[in-house]
Amino acid sequence: MEIPTPSSQIEPVKLVPESRFRFACHKGLSCFTQCCRGIDIILTPYDILRMKKRLGLTAEEFLLVHTDVEILEKTMLPVVRLKMREEEGSPCPFVTSEGCSIYEDRPATCRYYPVGMVFLKKQDVADKEEFYFMVREDHCKGFAESREWTVAEWRADQGLDLYDERNRGWMEIILRKKSLGPTAELSPKALQLFFMVSSNVESFRRFVFESRFLSSYDVPAERIEKMRNDDVELLEFGFEWLRGVLYGDKGVDLKPGAAPRESGPASS
Ligand code: SF4
Ligand code: SF4
Repeated sequence: MEIPTPSSQIEPVKLVPESRFRFACHKGLSCFTQCCRGIDIILTPYDILRMKKRLGLTAEEFLLVHTDVEILEKTMLPVVRLKMREEEGSPCPFVTSEGCSIYEDRPATCRYYPVGMVFLKKQDVADKEEFYFMVREDHCKGFAESREWTVAEWRADQGLDLYDERNRGWMEIILRKKSLGPTAELSPKALQLFFMVSSNVESFRRFVFESRFLSSYDVPAERIEKMRNDDVELLEFGFEWLRGVLYGDKGVDLKPGAAPRESGPASS
């Protein structure tokens, strides 16, 4: 998911995985790290998992120190934005003269550039359309380099298949909301649940394991054990559950006679 900045130029050409482009980014270029300033980076749930672990922070600490909440245009869903430093040029808190200090755990947006991806799904249409495009920042010298890639090679090099897979449940919820249109409102409680699962896996874990949640939902014991110890498993479950809560989709089955547990952790 590429979030172009005001100086971005989006090339009006649809790209496919086999499309080729020239690009390289490395220390020594005069623009090195210039792109890590004043940039609008929406963090995905998997970005947050990787970054908080890298920094040795709880989700709560990470959200407090490094992020702001933003309402996503056209969906009105609350998402998390990486906070830039409040100093001249608004640098990213993780940029150094040597490059990105959390490179192995950098967010998906940083991995995608200079490729952007569009993922379309229309209301009541099962087919999804996915294509790519190039984003050129005015100051970026990477396009003058001779290294050639296909879009698929770039994705593999940047580890994007894993990131997209881990974020798929979240993206589908956002796209579904977008396809319903701006007039389809979710309740404040539903928005709160979406934000909790998307941004604070520890809070969601407490919600599942320290309330009567598991006495209401029919979750196989093996899955419960995986969720207990694995943030990724818990996230995947969370988005499956949210599809039922937010949109009335099948989601996670209720136990016979049980009422849905949709109250947040504060009241659980
Ligand atoms: S996270 Fe790393 S790559 Fe992304 S903007 Fe910050 S310093 Fe740059
Ligand atoms: S501006 Fe382009 S080439 Fe320069 S550091 Fe950023 S991505 Fe790399």
